[in-house]
Amino acid sequence: MKVKFWGVRGSIGSPVKGHSIREKVRRILQYASPADILDDDAIERFVKALPFSLLQTYGGNTTCLEIRSAKNDLVIVDAGTGIRELGMKMLAEGFLQGKGECDMVFTHTHWDHIQGLPFFAPFYIPGNKFHIHAISEDIEDRLKYQHSSRHFPVGFDEMQATREFIQHPETTEWNIKGLKVRTKGMRHPGNSYSYRFEEDGKSIIFGSDAEFKLEDMDRIDEYMEYFHNADVLIFDTQYTFEEQLQKIDWGHSSASIATDIALRAGVKKLVLFHHDPSYDDEKLDEVYLRALRYREMMDKQSKLEIVMAYEGLELAV
Ligand SMILES: [Zn+2]
Ligand SMILES: [Zn+2]
Repeated sequence: MKVKFWGVRGSIGSPVKGHSIREKVRRILQYASPADILDDDAIERFVKALPFSLLQTYGGNTTCLEIRSAKNDLVIVDAGTGIRELGMKMLAEGFLQGKGECDMVFTHTHWDHIQGLPFFAPFYIPGNKFHIHAISEDIEDRLKYQHSSRHFPVGFDEMQATREFIQHPETTEWNIKGLKVRTKGMRHPGNSYSYRFEEDGKSIIFGSDAEFKLEDMDRIDEYMEYFHNADVLIFDTQYTFEEQLQKIDWGHSSASIATDIALRAGVKKLVLFHHDPSYDDEKLDEVYLRALRYREMMDKQSKLEIVMAYEGLELAV
């Protein structure tokens, strides 16, 4: 299985600011010596060696993931603003001709998880087929709602791809092609559901939006079986620990709680996800370093790998 991240931001899209680019340029110039900019080859070597957040950005699009099975079957997780660019890529894979077919799953229908859908080009092309899965009830009505003429010029039913809606109970296991799918309700205003995808003994869990607090750690056993031994756990780490203490019941977690859960569940790779829209790349670097230090503090021998989600990140299990 593979997963590619098309949107990693929480709450609302958050483009990079001009002053942030200026600061990156200033810091890059501080790094450079005359030898680094001698010719094109030297510049290329210098650029390649720069740290991630100087050279790139974690990204401003909201939640959208592309999961691929071993046979390359496509499952899209959520339709935040990141789905627009995924849709453009899909056009080159048969969806432009109306010959595409794929599955979609929705964790919940807060704006940041559905707002890219009106800009998802494959939905407009007759012949394309989508199987849309959710645990939340009335998923079709919820998606239609944002296409009311008061909110968007094109109605949901005017988008001509064929769409089938399937509501699953939270507790049953089901399959999408070769993938086994399990779900689990997460604490989040209005409810949200996590998805666990398994294939050939490997597992990827998507667990956002989800609020776990310090006091939950004693009562977390019911989740441990679900998270147990995941190869990849993508988890809601919107806030720093301090901020989470001020934002109780806002429905999100911190990197330290996520690390506690991942360590306890024997997760192999933890991906920090659903970045706060007010955090710039520097702040996210800091969140990442603090998560690494916290893992070190909790378990020096730990083999848990921690990764920051960014747009374009691809992982394979
Ligand atoms: Zn969200
Ligand atoms: Zn939410």
